[in-house]
Amino acid sequence: MPSAKNYDFVVIGAGVFGAWIAYFLRQSGARVCLLDAYGPANSRASSSGETRIMRMGYGQDELYTRWAARSLPLWQQLSEQTGVELFRKTGVLWLSNDADTHVETMLSVLQRCGISANRLSAGEIAQRYPQLSFADITGGVLEPESGVLMARRSVQLLVRELIKDGVEYLTGAVIPPQGQGKLNHIETIQHVSVSGGAYIFACGAWLPKLFPALLAGHIHPTWQEVFFLGVPAGSREFEIGCMPAWLHHSHTERPYVLPDIENRGLKISFDRHGPQIDPDTALRVVSRQSIELVQQYLSEHVPALRHAPIVETRVCQYENTANGDFLIDLHPELENVWLVGGGSGHGFKHGPAVGNYVSGRILHNASPEPRVSLAAKPSMTLRTVF
Ligand SMILES: Cc1cc2nc3c(=O)[nH]c(=O)nc-3n(C[C@H](O)[C@H](O)[C@H](O)COP(=O)(O)OP(=O)(O)OC[C@H]3O[C@@H](n4cnc5c(N)ncnc54)[C@H](O)[C@@H]3O)c2cc1C
Repeated sequence: MPSAKNYDFVVIGAGVFGAWIAYFLRQSGARVCLLDAYGPANSRASSSGETRIMRMGYGQDELYTRWAARSLPLWQQLSEQTGVELFRKTGVLWLSNDADTHVETMLSVLQRCGISANRLSAGEIAQRYPQLSFADITGGVLEPESGVLMARRSVQLLVRELIKDGVEYLTGAVIPPQGQGKLNHIETIQHVSVSGGAYIFACGAWLPKLFPALLAGHIHPTWQEVFFLGVPAGSREFEIGCMPAWLHHSHTERPYVLPDIENRGLKISFDRHGPQIDPDTALRVVSRQSIELVQQYLSEHVPALRHAPIVETRVCQYENTANGDFLIDLHPELENVWLVGGGSGHGFKHGPAVGNYVSGRILHNASPEPRVSLAAKPSMTLRTVF
């Protein structure tokens, strides 16, 4: 067997978390290797969708509001440095009713954090967006500076920039490490051996497959479906500027909708957990039941799209922790192995903040955020982070 290539840090998984972790480690001058089994933001990865919402509101949860606020300028910086459009300022509108305290509490957190957010009455929403119809809400909150990230494009671009900056990128499926104490090297199923001072496994929905004894009870990958609807010929009313991204928070199915970006059509999905999924083998075809749910929702709330054709679909996965908090911690038995994941359907926007946090923990022994530790992960599922 050829001798192992040697680095300061080896990051396994080139999704949004792994890529930003590699970025911050490389910024310190370290020698960094980044590996992925299927390639950066590949079609099986959670980071591979066209778009992801970049919102600041998290109900009463100031931690994620602050991480999102820290992340947006770094996404914008990447966009400016490369000249590639990665963020679209669509505005993000939360729709709600009086029984829903989440949005009301969120408004005060946003104001406390200095993030611009405006309350809108149901009448104002109807007036501003006549193409939408919400008889079931009493109002909403608009984040005018928030918007949408071009997800796959951003991660693939970041990895290309990392390679230019000296990070070595390898395609390879890493074999789960065994044993205790210090890990000396990892191997891929293609018999490539790589060694480093520390190893960061940012493997999304694959974490419980890599570390079943430790993580199978803590990270639950679920099936999530995404639909793009063809807009009427010649129409402009679903474009950015005419319609924000919106989250229908008081609706039981938790729909969220994005405007027609890059002529792909209006995007709709439901932020509720689907059945369990195997990220390697899943046949990613949407269900008839979900198609009907989309059509029913649109006929009620976006009448012009009542009979719109579905022009594209995707099946992706969330990698949920029990309550939606991320998992960022050292492996309890392998002293130089870090576990990073549990994006839980809301992680994309936080890529820069997660990368910064992980590099701070590794390079500067920065103080840990207790909520993201392994010990803090409840085994009972009770989603509290939205
Ligand atoms: C439908 C949907 C909508 C979402 N909407 C939003 C949103 O609007 N806003 C938001 O902020 N977030 C959103 N998210 C969540 C967000 O996309 C994820 O939290 C985030 O992308 C997770 O990134 P990751 O890097 O942890 O995982 P991934 O992107 O899955 O990356 C993990 C990588 O590890 C690699 N890997 C796995 N095993 C190995 C191995 N053995 N060896 C080498 N490589 C390996 C995989 O190939 C993969 O590329 C959404 C997710 C989905 C599915």
